[in-house]
Amino acid sequence: MPIKNEPFKIGGKTIEPGTHEIVLLPAPDLYTQTKMNIPIHVFHGKQAGPKLFVSSAIHGDELNSIEIIRRLHQKNWIDNIKGTLITIPVVNIYGFIIQSRYLPDNRDLNRCFPGSRAGSLAARLAHLITKEIITQCQFGIDLHTGGYGKINLPQLRVNLETPGAKQISKAFEAPVIIDAKIRDGSLRQAASELGIPILVYEGGEALRFNELCIRMGVRGIEKVMNYLKMISVPSLNKKTEFKPVITQTSRWVRASVSGFLEPVKDITASFTVKKNEIIYYIHDPFLINPSVPVVAPFDGILIGLTNLPVVNEGDAICHIASTKKLKNVHAYIDELKSEISAPVLKIIK
Ligand SMILES: [Zn+2]
Repeated sequence: MPIKNEPFKIGGKTIEPGTHEIVLLPAPDLYTQTKMNIPIHVFHGKQAGPKLFVSSAIHGDELNSIEIIRRLHQKNWIDNIKGTLITIPVVNIYGFIIQSRYLPDNRDLNRCFPGSRAGSLAARLAHLITKEIITQCQFGIDLHTGGYGKINLPQLRVNLETPGAKQISKAFEAPVIIDAKIRDGSLRQAASELGIPILVYEGGEALRFNELCIRMGVRGIEKVMNYLKMISVPSLNKKTEFKPVITQTSRWVRASVSGFLEPVKDITASFTVKKNEIIYYIHDPFLINPSVPVVAPFDGILIGLTNLPVVNEGDAICHIASTKKLKNVHAYIDELKSEISAPVLKIIK
């Protein structure tokens, strides 16, 4: 027997069951005195069920994740869900205006959670999101991309020790799951400490759209909602044949010299590496010094790659997740790619 939903209070508004409301969370003004607010959407089902939030652009230049939410809103099921879905297309509205990762005080909002009412601008915003969104939900998905000039393979970052996290991370069906306990002031940490399982989805790069990562993100959120029985879409019940790679170890490989970066690997064809395999060459643009190879320190998956041709010594240029299951992850991504019929990842060459 379905249980009727109760009215839901958020941002000073009461949302009735069976409605979709837009709520404007008031945020600090710009110094031009321009009023600022963070628009959120609340889809409050007629029937009671799980409360899930999907947030994006905590880093204001991560446009790919905003597009994931825009496409989610176009789904046929959007006004007919069980439970409550809250979407926040742009958390860092300040950075979004100037296409920046950061806030006007140069802080990284995702290092300031859970925040405080009387703290810095970043702390106040984090507090607002914690109080109004996180503590009102039972599940969350926080959408990200690589930083500027860095492209990420679709992947989840999750603390699998949080009860419920393992089940929803598997339901998402991302090719790679990085199981990490973090103490970094992120939204994920704040939610995990409240016992709320959070998936961080990473895919693509800042300031660009990446079709594969967008479609995989939309599909993953739908898969989680279908698993939680918030929606009932028969085509989403089909499970993929292969299992995602779960790993606790990943490492950034840094440039040993400065120069021009030439990718050797074409990640549209292969993103797995064997120990000592050459991933890049670094060339001297003045043609004085010999070229230097960059090699993989262990067998693994390239989960993040620099997309800019110039590097300084010490720059993090590629992120590798350690695993021996190299064949499995290829088959899995190929299966996902054909299912969502998206173009492959793009990288400079
Ligand atoms: Zn981010």
